[in-house]
Amino acid sequence: MDDLIAFLRARLDEDERIAKTADPGPWHADGGGIHKGHTTDEVVDYAGDNAEHIARHDPARVLAEVAAKRLIIELHQPDHKQRDCGTCMSRKIGYQEDWIEEEWPCKTLCLLALPYADHPDYREEWRP
Ligand SMILES: [Zn+2]
Repeated sequence: MDDLIAFLRARLDEDERIAKTADPGPWHADGGGIHKGHTTDEVVDYAGDNAEHIARHDPARVLAEVAAKRLIIELHQPDHKQRDCGTCMSRKIGYQEDWIEEEWPCKTLCLLALPYADHPDYREEWRP
């Protein structure tokens, strides 16, 4: 039952590893290029909209998202007595009643995994 958590942690570890090997930035899009770091000497050329997108998802942003997702995972650990998520079952987070999961894994973790659905280890049973 912890397979989804292991899957998510592995994907976040991959995202983190790749982000840490990239130029730390911050990256700034400027016209058709991306400026890496605090100097404007190093410019990578991309089409304008692509440059905006890439700069917006620079390594610092990816690392911040990885950290936030790890905290979400910690909030959605299974209750080993009830075999469900204590956070989602608490009804304190504002989910509609039909979103309250009675079984593990909860919908929150399934939704966190959805962006990785093209990974070969993703299981269709996790698709919300
Ligand atoms: Zn949950």
